[in-house]
Amino acid sequence: MNEMFPAVRMRRLRKLKLIRETLLSTDDLILPLFIDENIEGKNKKPISSMPGQYRFSIEGAVKEVLEARSMGIKSVLLFGIPEQASKDEKGSEAFNKEGVIQRAVRRIKKDVENVVIITDLCLCEYTSHGHCGLVENGSVLNDPTLEVLGKIAVSQAEAGADIVAPSGMMDGMVKAIREKLDEESFSEIAIMSYAAKYNSALYGPFREAADSGYKFGDRSSYQLDFSNAREALREVELDIKEGADIVMVKPAIFHLDIISKVRARFDVPLAAYNVSGEYSMITAASEKGYLNREEVMMEGLTAIKRAGADLIITYFAKEVARVLEQE
Ligand SMILES: [Zn+2]
Repeated sequence: MNEMFPAVRMRRLRKLKLIRETLLSTDDLILPLFIDENIEGKNKKPISSMPGQYRFSIEGAVKEVLEARSMGIKSVLLFGIPEQASKDEKGSEAFNKEGVIQRAVRRIKKDVENVVIITDLCLCEYTSHGHCGLVENGSVLNDPTLEVLGKIAVSQAEAGADIVAPSGMMDGMVKAIREKLDEESFSEIAIMSYAAKYNSALYGPFREAADSGYKFGDRSSYQLDFSNAREALREVELDIKEGADIVMVKPAIFHLDIISKVRARFDVPLAAYNVSGEYSMITAASEKGYLNREEVMMEGLTAIKRAGADLIITYFAKEVARVLEQE
């Protein structure tokens, strides 16, 4: 038998660097963008907890999307930050026709060709209490929230979104949104569901970025406990049955096992969110000289793809595109 050393030598091919099983491509990348109604003109405002990342005005966002498109990135995920004064208990600004996201989507569609626009679909950026659903007596209500999510979906679809991305982990949200969209003749609009979203400490920097911190409690009544894997698979299965076109695992690098399990069990397209905390950890460590930013970035993102993700939402998207261009 020639199946072992010395006949078999794994290093023969390795040194040629010929075989690479997983290759990142700009096609895999989705760039998240924060669009802030409080910023005027073409300005952008740095996010201090995520060095190198910005909140953009609508004009600024158009410019950013144009740049991303020119680098080969096909898709963006938009988060809206409304005027502080417009926030209320019910998050009404989220489905305002003239809301920040609705206006941004219309502008981007008008000015940028061939870009896939995904809109975050949640209440937390728009409610005065900062939770992802309607609140009564300190608890987040499920079923009444679904109706609001349907309204937001329709208003985003009317503005021109290609995909809506419900991120609030309410039970039945995908079904409610699908029904509402179909009822309003938006059956072409796809749903990317945050199906397995963990209640993660890694979202810290995002809350500053999206101004979506909550005033009381936490999100453990709706987001997954990070100890649980089987529960994540049930969430994914339910969302697929409710009509999700793409399912998502979030965060990505800390939960690669979940990405891999979802990939093995289901055949729907799978997205993974390389979250703010993952971005900021790599950024901070590389600023201190502990790690090489580019190397760790490429290793982390390749691992997400190797685990089974088809799409990767990442703040590194433009940087990765630059690296890929050089290769
Ligand atoms: Zn939310």
